[in-house]
Amino acid sequence: MDMEILSDGVFFIPGRTNIGVVRCGLREVVLIDTGPDEAGVRRILKVLKRHGFTPIAVINTHFHSDHCGGNRFLKDNENITVYASGIAAAVIKYPFINSFSLFSGVAPICDLVNRFVVSEPSEVDVEVESGNLKIGDALFEIIPLPGHAPGQIGVAVNGVFFCADSLFAPEVIEKAGIPFNVDIKEEKETLAFLKNTDFSVYVPSHGKPTVDVQYYVSENLVWIEKIKSIVLDVLEEERSSEEVVAIVLKRMGLKVKAAHRYFLIQAAIFAYLSFLYNERLISLKIEGRPLWKRK
Ligand SMILES: [Zn+2]
Repeated sequence: MDMEILSDGVFFIPGRTNIGVVRCGLREVVLIDTGPDEAGVRRILKVLKRHGFTPIAVINTHFHSDHCGGNRFLKDNENITVYASGIAAAVIKYPFINSFSLFSGVAPICDLVNRFVVSEPSEVDVEVESGNLKIGDALFEIIPLPGHAPGQIGVAVNGVFFCADSLFAPEVIEKAGIPFNVDIKEEKETLAFLKNTDFSVYVPSHGKPTVDVQYYVSENLVWIEKIKSIVLDVLEEERSSEEVVAIVLKRMGLKVKAAHRYFLIQAAIFAYLSFLYNERLISLKIEGRPLWKRK
C-alpha cells in the first residue's frame, strides 16, 4: 500500500475505499475520507509517515461507515479538524441512524449493528455544503453529489475530482450487481452534472481513477436503466415488496446470505420502487401487504 500521485500536491492511497491525500503545508495534509475502521486508518498513517506527512484535517464525503469509520481513531490520536455536510455530520455523530434506517426506522436486529453498517461515532467540527474551502495552503471546491447518499459531497482540488460514491468504477458495479443508490432521480441528475464537468482526473471511492468521465457516467447510467427495466418487468404482475427483492436478486444472479447485505440490497431495490412510484410508472395498493404493479 502506497500513495499514488494525481496532480501537484494531490495523491491517493488506493484501497477498498480510496483515500485522498492533499498537501496543505510543508508537511501537513488533508485526508479525504478515513476508510472503514481503526486498522485501515493505522495503515494510512503508516503510509503518511513514510512520506513525512502529518494529517491535520479530514473531509468526509458522506456518512457511510467505509468512509468515516477511521474518524474516531484519528480524532483520538491526532489533532484533526473534521469537515462534512450537515446531513453527514448528523449520522457521523449518531451512526446508529444507519442501522435504524435499514430496519424501517426502529431498533434493528443485532445483525445490522456491525462495522459494515455502523461506524464508531465521531465529532464533526465544521459543516460544509458547497463552494470554496481553504485549509492551510490548499483551496478546495466542495460540490454536492446527492443520490448515493443524502448530503454526499465531492471534493475538487488542483484539477482532481474526488467524486466519492457518485460514480462507481465499472469493475466495482459488475462485482456489486446492484450499485447502492438511495435516490435514483437525484443520482441521475448527479450523473448528468458529472458528464458536463471537465476535471483532469476523477477519483471514485471504489475502483480505479479515470480521465474518461464520459465512460464512467455512461456505465453507471446503463446499470441504473438495467435495474429499472428489470423492476418494471417484474411488476408486469402484481408483486409484494419482498417478492420484488427476491425476483430481482434471482434475475441478477445474486446470492445473499448475510442479513446486513440483504437489508442493504433491499434498500437499493426499494429506491427503484419509490423512484418508479413517484414517476407514476407503478401503482401501490395495500392489501395486508404492499402490492406493486406496473401501470
Ligand atoms: Zn457510500
